[in-house]
Amino acid sequence: MSKKTLIIGAGGVGNVVAFKCAMNSKTFGNITLASRTISKCISIATNVKKKTGVEINTATVDADSVPQLTELIANTGADIVINVALPYQDLTIMDACIECGVDYLDTANYEHPDTAKFEYKEQWAKNEEFKKENIMGLLGSGFDPGVTNVFCAYAQKHYFDEIHTIDILDCNDGDHGYPFATNFNPEINLREVSAKGRYWEDGKWIETEPMEIKQIWDYPEIGAKDSYLLYHEEMESLVKHIKGLKRIRFFMTFGQSYLTHMKCLENVGMLGIKEVEHKGAKIIPMEFLATLLPDPASLGPHTKGKTNIGIFAKGLKDGKEKSIYIYQISDHEKCYEEVMSQAVSYTTGVPAMIGAKLILEGKWRGHGVFNMEEFDPDPFLEELKVQGLPWKIMELKADEDLRIYT
Ligand code: NDP
Repeated sequence: MSKKTLIIGAGGVGNVVAFKCAMNSKTFGNITLASRTISKCISIATNVKKKTGVEINTATVDADSVPQLTELIANTGADIVINVALPYQDLTIMDACIECGVDYLDTANYEHPDTAKFEYKEQWAKNEEFKKENIMGLLGSGFDPGVTNVFCAYAQKHYFDEIHTIDILDCNDGDHGYPFATNFNPEINLREVSAKGRYWEDGKWIETEPMEIKQIWDYPEIGAKDSYLLYHEEMESLVKHIKGLKRIRFFMTFGQSYLTHMKCLENVGMLGIKEVEHKGAKIIPMEFLATLLPDPASLGPHTKGKTNIGIFAKGLKDGKEKSIYIYQISDHEKCYEEVMSQAVSYTTGVPAMIGAKLILEGKWRGHGVFNMEEFDPDPFLEELKVQGLPWKIMELKADEDLRIYT
């Protein structure tokens, strides 16, 4: 019987997921794209029809409301819900999936709107309910989290007996032409990068000031870039699942213009997430800022350059030390040519589609709530190659390092 797929969230990532599901319509069957703003869904559906010939349905939903979600899931008869709205909606969408007995997938872990802190606690707590309903929840099926978790599982399966250190590296060398813009949802992006940094070493989390640790990494096909240590959610599950791990860190590149703007906005209070009164109205500075910044979905036609995201792992194989970098390079303009989105949305939307494809095809299957590295990495990475995100492995010699020491 033909499957039915419900995508929630018609932003930059939702656009890519809609395109890619339509391009794999044999698996995804009847596709519905739902969001708060119907005009965004219609515009994406029109572009998908024009470029792929596949018709997708559209609907409006407030994904903060479980009753609205359950009604939508029942009306569409969905077999799976792909959540690419915001992290604030994760729990309500998971609850609706439990109520309707439908599989669930997302790309970012739950965050409470009033606290700039993200963790898996609340989502993992739904494991028993997912099990009881015989359904599956796949958490963090984007690029990072997502592909980075699968790269770690692949390194563990094929390259190491023990992995001792992992550095997850996220380099965006793209230029969108604006003095300041974010490549995915501005509010989520700015909350993430302005928060304290954190990494894990010898069984403990170590906190740093925001952007306190800077290192220079030499990204293949891009070159040396200043990279800053951030806390990133995939580390929370990887420390549980990678054998022998002693340290894991996450680095992201930022240009000077981005950092200067961010510091200035922070200094004047524009990154605040608590309500302030303005001329009798209550506003949240960060939300107001997000309305002023370019919509990430609109950056596609202007963005040039490449991304390079990967994992640099060191450990032991047959008693010998070894290091590898598993990575993927995307070109912003090529992504736009294919699905009318820049590479940050593309590299998130393609893995979301692949995760859902493996669930629908029964290749990744289980009852409960899972992180990506808990499944066999091979079928996922095979799909990644053919769905637009070919990846590479660089084996480093004993005297080689990707990090540049200054
Ligand atoms: P956008 O802001 O472009 O899109 C989010 C969409 O969600 C919008 O279209 C918005 O609605 C919709 N939405 C928000 N609130 C609701 C609601 N209450 N009900 C229904 N729809 C709602 O964000 P992105 O596309 O850039 O990001 C989407 C997700 O992907 C985010 O969770 C982000 O954190 C994650 N992400 C993950 C990455 C990874 O590698 N794992 C990387 C980048 C992003 P509307 O416009 O219809 O009003």
